Amino acid sequence: MLRRIAVALAVALVAPACSSSGNAAPPAEAPAPVAPKPAAPPAAPVAKPEPRVVVVSVDGLRADLITPEVMPRHAKLAAEGATAKSASTIPETDTLPSHAAMLSGVGAAAHGLTWNSYRKDRGPIRVPTVFSAAHDRKLATAMFVGKAKLRHLLLPGSVDHFEIPRDPTCAGVAAAAAAHFASARPHLMFVHFSDPDDAGHRSGWLSPDYLAAAKASDRCLGTLLDAIDATPMAASTLVIVTADHGGDGHSHSDGRSQLNRRIPWIARGAGFARASTIDAPVDTRDTAATVLAALGLPALPNMLGTSRLPVR
Ligand SMILES: [Zn+2]
Repeated sequence: MLRRIAVALAVALVAPACSSSGNAAPPAEAPAPVAPKPAAPPAAPVAKPEPRVVVVSVDGLRADLITPEVMPRHAKLAAEGATAKSASTIPETDTLPSHAAMLSGVGAAAHGLTWNSYRKDRGPIRVPTVFSAAHDRKLATAMFVGKAKLRHLLLPGSVDHFEIPRDPTCAGVAAAAAAHFASARPHLMFVHFSDPDDAGHRSGWLSPDYLAAAKASDRCLGTLLDAIDATPMAASTLVIVTADHGGDGHSHSDGRSQLNRRIPWIARGAGFARASTIDAPVDTRDTAATVLAALGLPALPNMLGTSRLPVR
């Protein structure tokens, strides 16, 4: 019995293999094997654009000069970003100590640049700066200035491109900086316009000469912003416009005067809301802290400034 079942099973198994040569109807065509759907390729990671920062210091520019009538490009920048209600520099209201505080985040006693002229024998600033911090992380750095004394801000090797253009007025500085930003794409660039300070010392703060210099600086800022905004990096670039001190009469050296201490502080990009204001008082040392935060770098040791980047 078992043997008969085995034979029947064997016949049944062989029959289909022989059916193609017989009269039996062809078996239903087996469905073609369906190739598994290839998985959608993983979405290419969207590269986050590298952050960039441009700090513009308009030497001796008083914050109260920034109105649409006198300085329309500054006012437009303010409308596109945030403006400090009140910003001030350190009590040492001179160009070199104040810029040193702006770019290192510490006061004059710590950074050591307590004089206000170019003295090659005295060497560079004695604390790290935003430039040395950026350069240590392999970021490209550049500095375009109108005054030789700002060479004291250069720690060895910290600035890839330093230039005092042949035309040291803001027209020459802005043109050189604009071309460099477009071609070299530095991650951190400092730009210094000296015109209002020169006119203030020459003819007095708020004199017609000073106002003309402020207006020239405004056009120079326009040159620089137009160049930045024409690049693909515009949306990922934080622009900070500030100053090293204000001024009154023919000077700015008395740090007890609020007219000397007060500075403009405008930031566009990096999440600063359009036409917003920063209510808490801004200190010039906050510029250094904000620059590092925008570049994704840690604060420097002993830095006193506070990042003003909006918290998200
Ligand atoms: Zn100055």
